[in-house]
Amino acid sequence: MTASLFIDGAWSAGSGARRGTVVDPATGAAIGEVAFAEAADLDRALTAAERGFRAWRKVSAYERSRILRKAADLVRQRAETLAEAITREQGKPLAEARMEAGAAADVIDWYAEEGRRAYGRVIPARIPGARQVALSEPVGPVAAFSPWNFPVGQLVRKVAAALAAGCSIIAKAPEETPSCAMALARCFEEAGVPAGVLNLVFGVPAEISAHLIPSPVIRKVSFTGSVPVGRHLAALAGQHLKRTTMELGGHAPFIVCDDVDVEAVARLGAGIKFRNAGQICTSPTRFLVQAPMQERFAELFAGLAEGLAVGAGAAEGTQMGPLAHARRIDAVDGLVRDATEKGARLLTGGRRIGNQGFFYAPTVLADVPASARIMNEEPFGPVAIVNRFETLDEAIAEANRLPVGLGSYAFTGSTAQAGRLADEIEAGMVSINHFGLAAPETPFGGIKDSGHGSEGGSEGLQAYLATKFVSQA
Ligand code: NAD
Repeated sequence: MTASLFIDGAWSAGSGARRGTVVDPATGAAIGEVAFAEAADLDRALTAAERGFRAWRKVSAYERSRILRKAADLVRQRAETLAEAITREQGKPLAEARMEAGAAADVIDWYAEEGRRAYGRVIPARIPGARQVALSEPVGPVAAFSPWNFPVGQLVRKVAAALAAGCSIIAKAPEETPSCAMALARCFEEAGVPAGVLNLVFGVPAEISAHLIPSPVIRKVSFTGSVPVGRHLAALAGQHLKRTTMELGGHAPFIVCDDVDVEAVARLGAGIKFRNAGQICTSPTRFLVQAPMQERFAELFAGLAEGLAVGAGAAEGTQMGPLAHARRIDAVDGLVRDATEKGARLLTGGRRIGNQGFFYAPTVLADVPASARIMNEEPFGPVAIVNRFETLDEAIAEANRLPVGLGSYAFTGSTAQAGRLADEIEAGMVSINHFGLAAPETPFGGIKDSGHGSEGGSEGLQAYLATKFVSQA
């Protein structure tokens, strides 16, 4: 199958002949092609998005909400097909893909409702009889770039929020997972989103961002991906004075104090670490365990990692699938080798599994020195670091040592310590004593080099709204 572009309400293979290959990460075999957009296709998308915006912004918030809720219903009805596409192209176990599809419907429903609450405010005037209001208006056509780790989940946050706010959007979805994006776009199309309001393109990412971001049509840029690419796109957007939401990488600390049930926390930690083979921006990476419990925690964690059933996402009983593409194996393996060369203890894993597909063994490293690359670079793979700390001050200092600050986790039985951790960890999100990040209604985003802006909660809608002040005497 050849994945197509969706521009101005029509599906096509675009105006050029360039194609990308879609690969099954469980086998490494080619399973399809994806059409690449050329400059002429992008120009058509820009014209369509401009026209689409003018029409869509005039559709009432009530009607937009009705259409979006219909799209959510279609996503729910097609959840199994969507999940199969996610697993086929991205590799995660079917159970996780089903969760992703279900969560996508929830995200659309939430924005459908929140879009009806884009209230402005009335500001008392100094002049008698005058009316002053601050109105919330859609910011304009959006250029959105979503990544391959949650091919439906990351795309839907951008599309649902933009559409709920009354914006049109040109989404460049990942070339690795195009049929997931197509299946999602079809739900919006069939729900009644008018032509030009949602446009979907694939191609050479750098060409597409260089074409869309400087265009005067585009008023807002939303990107999810790595810090270096985010830095580049934010600079480009800044040059053209476009608003941005940047959801970039992290290196989540996971602090375990000595007053918790070490077994229960190790089980919880391993459960979340190896989800999506660690390819999650909020995946816990640095497990910082208070000294008396570190050895026990590391031993339990390594045992749990070893016990995971690694296999094709579509196979019955698989708990962890392959990495999403071949380049991630080299990236992850390089980080593990560097760590062991610098003195880290390899407790389990540290190797590719088989020579078919992109499987990497769940890996646990202990006592990793701060000079190791993996202590400073996001592994974005199934590797956990288990290091020790003596005092809470030390743990907080280590958590805050890196220039990124996205997700973070802490476990303690003490309310006072929990309060300190919530106050002092420098991150966009802190989850204490459970895993509580990423619901549609809660803010999702980072600080420092992890980016800015939010992709959840009412903040997620605000990201697509501009304020207009009206004063009437
Ligand atoms: P990468 O840096 O090459 O690309 C990251 C993403 O940005 C991809 O989706 C890619 O298509 C896109 N991209 C790259 N150059 C672009 C450009 N000039 N314009 C527009 N889009 C562009 O890395 P990768 O190998 O695909 O992924 C690995 C790294 O990306 C990870 O280490 C992780 O830090 C980061 N990542 C983060 C998230 C997240 O959820 N924050 C998701 C996926 C990847």
